[in-house]
Amino acid sequence: MPQLGFGVWQVPPQEAATAVTAALEAGYRSIDTAAAYENEEGVGRALAESGLPREEVFVTTKLWNAEQGYDSTLRAFDASLARLGLDVVDLYLIHWPMPRVDKYVDTWRAFEKIYSEGRARAIGVSNFQPAHLNRLNELGGTVPAVNQIELHPRLQQSVPRAYHADHGIVTEAWSPLGQGGDLLDDPTLGELAAEHGKTVAQVVLRWHLQLGNVVIPKSVTPSRIRENIDVFDFELTGEDMARIAELNTDTRLGFDPDTMNSAG
Ligand code: NAD
Repeated sequence: MPQLGFGVWQVPPQEAATAVTAALEAGYRSIDTAAAYENEEGVGRALAESGLPREEVFVTTKLWNAEQGYDSTLRAFDASLARLGLDVVDLYLIHWPMPRVDKYVDTWRAFEKIYSEGRARAIGVSNFQPAHLNRLNELGGTVPAVNQIELHPRLQQSVPRAYHADHGIVTEAWSPLGQGGDLLDDPTLGELAAEHGKTVAQVVLRWHLQLGNVVIPKSVTPSRIRENIDVFDFELTGEDMARIAELNTDTRLGFDPDTMNSAG
């Protein structure tokens, strides 16, 4: 799995193909979509039109909450493949655990079937807390390959990251740039960017990479799409990393996974 990919949440369906084409041209080889983003078709079209061999691009999609449950998951997966125009995805994720609905164990069994059939090269989860991962662990089956969680300098997620490290689960950061909000105006990050001759977004993405997180920044602006992958020519020092560690405030931008139970 490439450590840096391209996320397409909130990219309108009619713009998705253009954005993904720009990302592929900029060198991205991993795309993160979801049934809920309603742009799997555009992603699939850009992949087909790119002419790139299928095995060169890592494609992730996610099962939407409304489809949790064994049979409905199998049907939803077929529908995602059809919209993407693919036979196989590289990674299939349960989008949210929805603990009150309590169907994620049955859903995971369907994921294991899809995996055993080779139609997803890897299966994982998103927004799972350690308690939810523990429940999957107790089944004694396949360990999720990835947990995709909200993670940025203001929500550094040290407890889940440690759990993932202990269990061989990859940490993937969603909203890695804090959704482009006022995080990017942070003065410490501004100083580090000036010191390294890079942008704040590049410093934040570099911080993720050096921590070992997989990142999937989103942009529909070609210059930013290129900027966000131009992060492999510099290195933050231990002191820089320590300064960014100080920025954690445990502030979520998205839903709390323990209370998000909506299939709407
Ligand atoms: P992000 O942190 O990637 O921020 C994206 C926003 O930041 C853009 O819309 C733009 O406004 C700004 N931006 C991007 N590049 C910039 C740059 N170089 N300079 C200045 N501003 C810049 O936010 P995101 O889209 O929420 O998260 C990334 C991806 O994570 C999504 O597209 C999606 O694939 C995934 N995601 C998953 C979940 C989940 O529940 N699993 C939830 C949210 C997002």
